[in-house]
Amino acid sequence: MKKKANTDVLRFVRPNILNLRPYEAKEIPCGVKLDANESPYPEKLSARTLKSIETNRYPDPQAEALRKAYAQKNLPAKIRGIEWLLHGNGSDELIFNLVCVFGGPVIYPVPTFSMYGKIAAALGQRVVEVPLQSGFDIDDSALLSAAKKQKGGIIFLSSPNNPTGNSFSAQKILRVIEESGCVVVVDEAYQPFSARKSFMSCLGKYPNLAILRTLSKVGLAALRVGFLIAEPGLVAQVNKVRLPFNVNSFSQAIAVDSISRASGLRKHIRGIVSERKRLHRELSGIKGVTAYPSDANFILFKVPDPERVYKEALRNGVLIRNLCEAVEGCLRVTVGSGKENEKFIRAIKRTLE
Ligand code: PMP
Repeated sequence: MKKKANTDVLRFVRPNILNLRPYEAKEIPCGVKLDANESPYPEKLSARTLKSIETNRYPDPQAEALRKAYAQKNLPAKIRGIEWLLHGNGSDELIFNLVCVFGGPVIYPVPTFSMYGKIAAALGQRVVEVPLQSGFDIDDSALLSAAKKQKGGIIFLSSPNNPTGNSFSAQKILRVIEESGCVVVVDEAYQPFSARKSFMSCLGKYPNLAILRTLSKVGLAALRVGFLIAEPGLVAQVNKVRLPFNVNSFSQAIAVDSISRASGLRKHIRGIVSERKRLHRELSGIKGVTAYPSDANFILFKVPDPERVYKEALRNGVLIRNLCEAVEGCLRVTVGSGKENEKFIRAIKRTLE
């Protein structure tokens, strides 16, 4: 009798993938969505822009108009050429491309954005996690000794950091760029909400520095548009692994439109920063709550019974993020509109007071 072939698909899966857990991005029904660091303000869509899109044609593979518009409005004058800029389907895709090109070990502080580790694992690269110091700043000496021990690789520094909300010390970041011998990616996803200086001004001086930016936090998350900004030589290498047509025509056109009318985006950012101050003050005034300082569009806070606070907020229609696995006793709330923040504060007070 013929032996039946073993068709169990798990046999064929690479071991590093078998152990992976998918990124948790569940759609949980709620009235007020404050879990994903999105902007509460949608951008207006222009009918003329939508009409200009030819649905039968592929998007511009080089996204030239998009890169030009972004460079014009966001890059320092000395690096305004689009050869300093690469477009991604969100900055997630660029993280994937960076690890694909430079390989591991992938070094990052923890807690931080979980995709650095997930992408490294998906690509079969070794990961080195270096705990943040108390106060959530990076331990530059520990990062440097990890880099030296591993001989090269890539370091990701999210500053401001997700989920802690603080910016890392600029001097420590500079030391890591100067002394690590690695490609250092400063992920500035939340920089638009920070009063600190961007690392963009260091480009041109450090060929191993790469900066990530995204439109997802400033009202355009639906588009999936992110940017890598680095020396043209580094950009050219990462461009080799970029999939063709990675940013679709709708996203390119709508993003160009919004970026060109940057005043709308800036107004919303100012609104979120001022709401953040109010939200921080109110949260800090609630008994039992420790709200950590934030340079981003979210606030990390500690409560005595986080599971209960999370569930009660949801029962009251407010979805926040439970971060207990990453930071003990902590929850994270995105800064929403004034009304959304009030609903959130009411829900927390109802549970804790
Ligand atoms: N970097 C950080 C630090 C983030 O928090 C996020 C989103 N949560 C990203 C990158 C990914 O952003 P995008 O939507 O552009 O993929």
